[in-house]
Amino acid sequence: MKTIFEKSNKDNHGGILLDNELSSCDCISSKYLRQGNIGLPNLSELEVLRHYKELSDRNFCIEKGFYPLGSCTMKYNPKVNELLASLEGFTNLHPLSSDEDSQGALELMYKLQEALKIITGMSAISLQPCAGAHGELSGMMVIKKYFEVKNDKRTKVLVPDSAHGTNPASAKMCGFDIVQIKSNERGQVDIEDLKDHLDKDVAAIMMTNPNTLGLFEEKVLEISKLMHANGSLLYYDGANFNAIMGYTNPFLMGFDVVHLNLHKTFATPHGGGGPGAGPIGVTEELKEYLPSPVIDFDGEKYFRNYNIKHSIGKVKAFYGNFGVLVKAYAYILMMGNNLRKASGDAVLNANYIKEKLKGTYLLPYDEPCMHEFVLSGDKQKEQGANTIGIAKRLMDYDIHPPTVYFPLIVHEAIMIEPTESESKEVLDNFIDVMLKIADEIKENPEFVMDSPHNTPIRRVDETQAARHPDLQWKENKQVIQ
Ligand SMILES: *Cc1c(COP(=O)(O)O)cnc(C)c1O
Repeated sequence: MKTIFEKSNKDNHGGILLDNELSSCDCISSKYLRQGNIGLPNLSELEVLRHYKELSDRNFCIEKGFYPLGSCTMKYNPKVNELLASLEGFTNLHPLSSDEDSQGALELMYKLQEALKIITGMSAISLQPCAGAHGELSGMMVIKKYFEVKNDKRTKVLVPDSAHGTNPASAKMCGFDIVQIKSNERGQVDIEDLKDHLDKDVAAIMMTNPNTLGLFEEKVLEISKLMHANGSLLYYDGANFNAIMGYTNPFLMGFDVVHLNLHKTFATPHGGGGPGAGPIGVTEELKEYLPSPVIDFDGEKYFRNYNIKHSIGKVKAFYGNFGVLVKAYAYILMMGNNLRKASGDAVLNANYIKEKLKGTYLLPYDEPCMHEFVLSGDKQKEQGANTIGIAKRLMDYDIHPPTVYFPLIVHEAIMIEPTESESKEVLDNFIDVMLKIADEIKENPEFVMDSPHNTPIRRVDETQAARHPDLQWKENKQVIQ
């Protein structure tokens, strides 16, 4: 496909302005007028539209096909949410508007906080953090401040080896030392290893439950008792909340701080780097440490409450991601008690696929799973292909690759999360394709390792664009075909 610059035709007049229209009017002093050519492509409006439509058609998205990206919860995002988030009263609200002029938006935020309290079991919520990782950072700052105020010097945070990389990164950014805790042979936090590392320097443990293997931590109550008896706190990474909504909650499991990824569990399109939201919830004991302001209601009006005794302060300036809060609130209202059914169906779908694939692919932790599970491509590796090959080959069948090579404790990991949104037909098709790829590998592993074969662009260098971005257009530059 040609770039828009290569399509440019200098005889074309894309817009309404003709060459010298501005320079012939004396409304702008000539010294401010551009002299040279700005170098924009010359195309008609229709050609521009076609160019970008063609590009967007090449993109993969949840509206186009199955997207079983583990740990990311790529569920259906109801279109009515977009309509509500784009209501003028919301989109035109100035960030410096007074509370009086923002009652509708504040009411929505307050009610979302109340809903998230019920869903998480926590006593108070802050909607400030704008992503999961930002929630982790804010939550760990809360924990740090809590110990500072108590004048209790604690330097360490325990993190299981199955954790998402943002967990140790967030704790480290708060100045804690990270102590890794082993998983046992069943993929659960190894209690003995935890006990060995639990001393008076430990501020907290960061856990994901179900963990990143998709397994529910059966000993979570024992762990929370151990931690609390040691004066330590428990942080809950809520990225996997889609597995437990309405069945249990982090408070019942003994956690003190939790973040939710609204863009994952509560239906906002994500994955393209778009806005997210990572609210945190805390127990009664930690309420006075939340980022300020929290949204409050005095019986008559909603207001931003800055009066929080030990607050860690603001963790961001404004609410540019407000639309995500609107979408989450709309989704929660629409679903009501069916949130529980969504989790139930997500778990059922994951177990269905797992059972159908486990003979053909290695399943290192063969247990009932929650909303996702992790296969290993080790068997296929012996036959000459690997997980990257499998992931790339799936693209030839119009399926987005699952998360691969995470969690780190599984060789050649393939992490599959179907979500509740997909029909049995879609799941069956995925199963058939995965089985077919396993057969292809037996016959011709090189062919699979050379995939994708049918996509507009074949193998790309996965790090080049991020490490050496080249954002300048140059004449005669070679174009990817
Ligand atoms: C997605 C994810 C995170 C980070 O959340 P972001 O919203 O992407 O910052 C943390 N932990 C786990 C387990 C995740 O899947």
